Amino acid sequence: MEGYLSEGGATGSHAGDQKISASPALEALMQVQEYDLAIDQLLYRRSHLEAISALDACMKRVGKIASERQRVAAERDAAIARQDGLEADIAQASERIRSIEKRMYGGEVSAARELEAMAHEVEHIASRRSELEDAEIQCMEELEPLDQAIAALDKDAAEAEAQATRLEERAHAECDAIDEEVASIAKQRDDAAGGIPGDLLAQYEAIRKHLGGQGAARLLHGVCTGCHLSLPAVEHQRAMHADPGAIITCEQCGRILVR
Ligand SMILES: [Zn+2]
Repeated sequence: MEGYLSEGGATGSHAGDQKISASPALEALMQVQEYDLAIDQLLYRRSHLEAISALDACMKRVGKIASERQRVAAERDAAIARQDGLEADIAQASERIRSIEKRMYGGEVSAARELEAMAHEVEHIASRRSELEDAEIQCMEELEPLDQAIAALDKDAAEAEAQATRLEERAHAECDAIDEEVASIAKQRDDAAGGIPGDLLAQYEAIRKHLGGQGAARLLHGVCTGCHLSLPAVEHQRAMHADPGAIITCEQCGRILVR
């Protein structure tokens, strides 16, 4: 196995089972990993913000209120159209009654039979008009709860929209704070990564990506702290006797072992 660093390479190789000080590159790698894990945690927190899930729920409520309002408004519009139609019919009936009565009492018609027929017609139209008026009253009675429902839905919508605005502001503020923290840690991470050879860093990043988090782990008393499994005795001996800068990976999990 080839070491990345020349310093300390010769002294570490015959140190037996005692703790060999890790190379600065591997120590820097552990630091980079700490920063990476801290960033992972922050990004996880960012994607699971309570304000964002509350905002989603709130927007669903806004949508539900809007569709309910649309439904009630359509019902109200239909009732209004019905009322308008009834009013027009009532006006027309009144107009016809007025016109017949004008002829009846205007002196133009004198035949008793004709006058009787006209009186009958007036009576008939008046009865029909009375029915129309009843229907109009019923229509107005139907409109009242619909108007109330729309007013209540408008109030609910205003409240839900105000809550959505508040949650949006909160989510933005929380995201901004996390982004700031991530940027600050990323800078420290990059500084630490500067002391690590490119191929070691690339190897670490590939393992980290594959395993979803940890690319390197300390080897403590023959146990890989990444997967918590003991290294086979032969492997452990080999790891302990290797050049401190040599890159050794755990056979079980594949992580870079830092001795
Ligand atoms: Zn392991």
